[in-house]
Amino acid sequence: MPSLPPFPAAAADQCVKCGLCLPHCPSYTLTGHEGDSPRGRIALMQGLAEGRLAASDRLQQHLDGCLGCRACEPVCPARVPYGQILDAGRAQLAMARPARWHRAALRGLTHPLGQRLLQGLRWLWQTLRLARPAGALGLFRLGALGRAASLLPAARLPQPAALPAPAASADRGEVLLFTGCTGAALEPETVAATEALLSALGFTPRTLTGLCCGALQTHAGDAEGGAARARAAGDALAGDAPIISIGTGCGAQLQEHPMASVRERHVDALQFIRRHWPEGVTLQPLPQRVALHVACSQRNVLRSGDDLAWLGRQIPQAAVFALDASGRCCGAAGHHLLQLPDVADAHLAPKLAAMRDTAPQWVVSNNIGCSLHLAGGLRRDGALTPQVIHPLVLLARLWPRR
Ligand code: SF4
Ligand code: SF4
Repeated sequence: MPSLPPFPAAAADQCVKCGLCLPHCPSYTLTGHEGDSPRGRIALMQGLAEGRLAASDRLQQHLDGCLGCRACEPVCPARVPYGQILDAGRAQLAMARPARWHRAALRGLTHPLGQRLLQGLRWLWQTLRLARPAGALGLFRLGALGRAASLLPAARLPQPAALPAPAASADRGEVLLFTGCTGAALEPETVAATEALLSALGFTPRTLTGLCCGALQTHAGDAEGGAARARAAGDALAGDAPIISIGTGCGAQLQEHPMASVRERHVDALQFIRRHWPEGVTLQPLPQRVALHVACSQRNVLRSGDDLAWLGRQIPQAAVFALDASGRCCGAAGHHLLQLPDVADAHLAPKLAAMRDTAPQWVVSNNIGCSLHLAGGLRRDGALTPQVIHPLVLLARLWPRR
């Protein structure tokens, strides 16, 4: 029997209930209910931890409805570490209530066998070109399975060949490339593009597939499962080499990893490439409209939200703009897009409307959950454009060829 993880009571007590976070919270904006606000949820979790509140369905609904976007953190004058409180509160709730199907599914998905199964499903789906007929027959709107199918990438993108180095550069040493549990299965093009870019910059990437940072499980209340995955990842990442993550969800988790040597060596891939951007490199022009979607984990945890705008400035002739100036969460939120599809879609709706209004050819996102959710919403609407693409895949495509 696992022990109950400690609730960070002192951190929760930092909340002075001022309410300044409320207008920034997408779930509160959606429902207008205090229990769906950061302040209200902290009060609920305090009540649960102190035994004043029961682990009821309603309490569960309020905690489940949190996107974990952490938009409440940067605006909080008392610097309340909301993400840490939420993980602990959800773990407490999970101990008090029977495990739900999605927690078991997440354990399976983040296991190496689950990843191989996902890889096989993706291969079959793309090889048989099932996305178009499934969409035409309306299967994407049929229950949980149809929704899950709508999230699968419809086609394989061409993988970049080796990219020419911009100048004869010295060997800059080994870097560890952390693909995350679903990265290799769902975004092999991104892994290949990152490897090619790092090699072109003179680094020697060592790609570590099959590792999981534990984020999906931790945020779903499975503290024990998440901690075990994080420990295993930390052991595999031992050494001195920089740790490069390609997805911002994994990146945020590695940035807050329990092992200092992981936290200190971790860098988001786009940020790493920005830091080592060679002088005099001019990308190929792209005379098209490019919308940028900054993931919450990038904006609120990694605090590197302007890296996408930097990338946009490197692309000659592109018309680059923010997909949605509000910067609110798209609703993907880890497992949220499958667990609470109606709520996830309500948060997605403004993003889809922005795509219709601004008609970009490309939407750039470096969070795999956001990319799946945005592309899934387009597919369920029968829209063939824009294409959702990871910034490093776009960068590799536009890299100057000699
Ligand atoms: S979380 Fe921060 S901003 Fe929100 S009510 Fe508490 S102290 Fe105020
Ligand atoms: S993490 Fe996001 S959804 Fe949850 S309370 Fe904070 S702002 Fe609201």
